[in-house]
Amino acid sequence: MKDKIQHILDGFNKEIKKVKTPNELEEVRRQFAGKNSPLVEILKGMKQATPEEKKEIGQLTNDARSEINSQINELNEQFQQEILNEKLKKEQVDVSLPGERLGFGTLHPLNLVIDEIANIFEELGFQMISGTEVDSDEFNFQKLNLPKGHPARDMQDTFYIDEDTVLRTHSTNMTSHLLTELSKNNGHNLACISYGNVYRRDDDDATHSHQFMQIDGFAVGDNITFANLKWLLTYMCQRLFDEKARVRFRPSYFPFTEPSVEADISCFKCDGEGCDLCKQSGWIEVLGAGLINDQVFEENGFDPKSISGLAFGIGIERIAMLKFGIANIRDFYENNVQFLEQFKFYGK
Ligand SMILES: [Zn+2]
Repeated sequence: MKDKIQHILDGFNKEIKKVKTPNELEEVRRQFAGKNSPLVEILKGMKQATPEEKKEIGQLTNDARSEINSQINELNEQFQQEILNEKLKKEQVDVSLPGERLGFGTLHPLNLVIDEIANIFEELGFQMISGTEVDSDEFNFQKLNLPKGHPARDMQDTFYIDEDTVLRTHSTNMTSHLLTELSKNNGHNLACISYGNVYRRDDDDATHSHQFMQIDGFAVGDNITFANLKWLLTYMCQRLFDEKARVRFRPSYFPFTEPSVEADISCFKCDGEGCDLCKQSGWIEVLGAGLINDQVFEENGFDPKSISGLAFGIGIERIAMLKFGIANIRDFYENNVQFLEQFKFYGK
């Protein structure tokens, strides 16, 4: 039996010398230290042996097993160390190599348009605010001359969170917040633009989205007239599109303004001749505006006789689509890097 154990050990020593890789080591481990190794077989076969034999053979077998295990472990550690060294060598940082350039991000086209419009109005002394997207029915509707049951509410299909809370349907909600605040503080003069996401239960298609962005602006104070509004919007359109653009105003209806207008610019592609962009009309609709309705002043705590104001609202996507020749509004929201990268150098 002793010889047999010695024979197994010799066999093991011979095999382990040949091992070159962790896989080969695993094979040797399985063969000499696994569940069915010859040493385990010897222990299994000792049931018939006398107690003395059991003791002696058991001792020898265990010695042989620990010898085998310790050699295997030693070699295994050696392999692990080699793998680690190899890895460290590969991952070594050569500080003298040129660095990898990080890809520059770009501003989203909608943000480019917001920045551009914001710049124009900030130069004119308007303050820029962002404001709340979840708002009360009161500030989104009632204080803007849209009482409950008003037919014009149907113009803006609304996402209701509960009976009195909505996802704002226009960024004009900030106008009522700011006007209420102003009247509480006995203020009289203020010019602000607010911007951000607004939500309507529109069916999404190439030009409509249930979520889109608006910039809303207003100025209140003494003697603000339609002439001021006309100058302001003409100036903005010329800065935004083309300094030679002509702007025309058509009567329209918005609950918060009276009179209300929609503003068109002469087509910057065909200069009014008629083309695909302007649907052969020579004009492109860009925004809605008007003088603040007396009712709105009253709802927000002012005596309409003592104050006047103008207001306007601009759809950012529409402006961006016009400026950049984008046909599908969904392009703005799909995070397609190839699409977005086109705007990398805009304004640079
Ligand atoms: Zn045209």
